[in-house]
Amino acid sequence: MNNPGLFAAKRTIKKTAIQTGLELFSAASASGIFPSARGLGSVFTLHRVEPYQYSRFDPNAHLSVTPDFLEKAIIELKSKNYKAIALDELPSHLNDPDPKQPVMVFTLDDGYRNNCEYALPVFKKHNIPFTVFACSGFVTRQHSIWWETITELAIKINHLKFDLGNGPRSIEAGNLAEKYSLFCWLAHDVMMLDQDEVIGRLDELARENGVQPIDITDQLIMNDDELKQLSSEPLAQIGAHTVSHPNLALLTDKQVTFELDQSRRDIETMTSVRPTNIAFPYGKLENANQREYQAAKALGFELAVSTEPDVLQASAKNNLHSIQRISLNGYYQSNRYVGALASGLPFKFFPRIANKFQSLLR
Ligand SMILES: [Zn+2]
Repeated sequence: MNNPGLFAAKRTIKKTAIQTGLELFSAASASGIFPSARGLGSVFTLHRVEPYQYSRFDPNAHLSVTPDFLEKAIIELKSKNYKAIALDELPSHLNDPDPKQPVMVFTLDDGYRNNCEYALPVFKKHNIPFTVFACSGFVTRQHSIWWETITELAIKINHLKFDLGNGPRSIEAGNLAEKYSLFCWLAHDVMMLDQDEVIGRLDELARENGVQPIDITDQLIMNDDELKQLSSEPLAQIGAHTVSHPNLALLTDKQVTFELDQSRRDIETMTSVRPTNIAFPYGKLENANQREYQAAKALGFELAVSTEPDVLQASAKNNLHSIQRISLNGYYQSNRYVGALASGLPFKFFPRIANKFQSLLR
């Protein structure tokens, strides 16, 4: 789609439709219908937490929420009688839940530095435990964070010729719609091909165009000292999130075991604390499924989380290696929407739409 006006209009229509749905669910939950839909509580996924910065082109905007929104979300959930617990308390809670008091669990994926700068003070202020799932290859700078690389690349260039292993392409990227289109092309290749190889080619392409992928990773992701410092915070836990952030579904059994186990070893070396939990990268069923759940279990992880969206059902106690989470989406930063999502109503009545709301997570 190369018509910027049409492109912007379609994005606006989609966002408005989702906002309208969330408003309706917010009103429905406030009226008290189907209180049982909220299940035993919710595990929330965040990525970047930082003050709002306007950017015309930000394909990762859904991954970024403001500290102010995070605080409002916590206050909203507390007002609805939610109790904050740490992720590692979840198994015992699921075995002995309090039906009158749902739980809220906060998790943050990838190891962004802004988690320390902006999320930690909010969690401290409200005494909320949280888990950061750190991708160890990002922390050591041995792997780059491809979605941030593509963003910088698309901002910088007006035209791109590339072949990441899926055939040669020549793409215009002069206007906003073209830049979003380029992001989708490159992201598609990264997700479909062997990520070790394809990200190597992407990084080379970026460097040829004046974008330095490891510098971007260095700027955005905590280093090992910072991760160690964060792990010493009483409210913080560090979980594993693989070494290279691969699409696990494309890997061999042996590679899956390596990614899960080595990331735990790396983080233990960095923080002196052995992670007990892991988050699967991207986390949808097409990225992590029974094989990955079993691998996490066999490796002795107490709990593993996906990004398949739902509230905590009673059955979760029997599925501790595929715990579902609700993403707090940067496009929909209203405490009413948090209440709507935690009510469980969107997942109960419109699971396909709810799934779309959570698409393209990292
Ligand atoms: Zn991730």
